[in-house]
Amino acid sequence: MLKGVKMTIRSPLAVLLLTVAFAAACNAHGANSLGPQTLSDGAPTTPTGTISSSVPVGAPADGAWRTAGISVQGRPIRTMTVGQGPRPVLFIGGIHGDEAEGSYTTGQLPAAFTGAGLSDRVTLTIVEDANPDGRAAKTRGNANGVDVNRNFPAPNFDPADPANGGTPLSQPESRTVYSLIEDINPDLIIVMHSWQDRQFINFDGPAREIADRFAATSGLPVTASNEFAPTPGSLGSYAGRDRKRPVLTIELRKGSDPQADWEQIRVALLAAING
Ligand SMILES: [Zn+2]
Repeated sequence: MLKGVKMTIRSPLAVLLLTVAFAAACNAHGANSLGPQTLSDGAPTTPTGTISSSVPVGAPADGAWRTAGISVQGRPIRTMTVGQGPRPVLFIGGIHGDEAEGSYTTGQLPAAFTGAGLSDRVTLTIVEDANPDGRAAKTRGNANGVDVNRNFPAPNFDPADPANGGTPLSQPESRTVYSLIEDINPDLIIVMHSWQDRQFINFDGPAREIADRFAATSGLPVTASNEFAPTPGSLGSYAGRDRKRPVLTIELRKGSDPQADWEQIRVALLAAING
């Protein structure tokens, strides 16, 4: 619904990151104050300028960020598509605004993807940050105080807690991610989060094998969902358990060194994307 608009980015949206599946207890704090991401050629993303979103999702990559949706406060929710292969993969750099640790990985991913020769096998859609208002304010939720990762139309959606948004897809950020999933129909969804004092991965839907391979390569353990609080209306509940799409959640350690994180997960991440 928000496609086809031309808009000007007004704020230096730093990076992003996000979250998925079970993050119920992701207690936030200490979001890194990272600068603008760098693209594959090392050039910083333009903090200002005009972005055209006229090219549809899934279009061949040209290294450009496009606007897939607009946040509550008017910030662009940006996507970049790299590769043109038959396997569609959706990568979300962040969804909880106070979990910015995945932003460095998000910035490094386009060049690594291309360099690994995955372009003819995979079409990778990268969401820079699904919650740019939360990122700017360093809050878990969006500008309405809603946890975007509880606002998806899963059968377990909980309308009782106002932080879940009242009704599914009541927030522009969750609607944007929802529309991307509809458009892309991804074979795999990967979402970046962060966790206090731990790093691990989790999964929803038919992603056990993917998670195990990721763990073996990266050293991040797979932590079972039942160790966490219920996550009604989460992206993992909706896309993973209900839509049967593999959802891999990567939880980096809060406050960790983003470059070290990237080096640790790079090979495993590219392998998961490759399928
Ligand atoms: Zn989270």
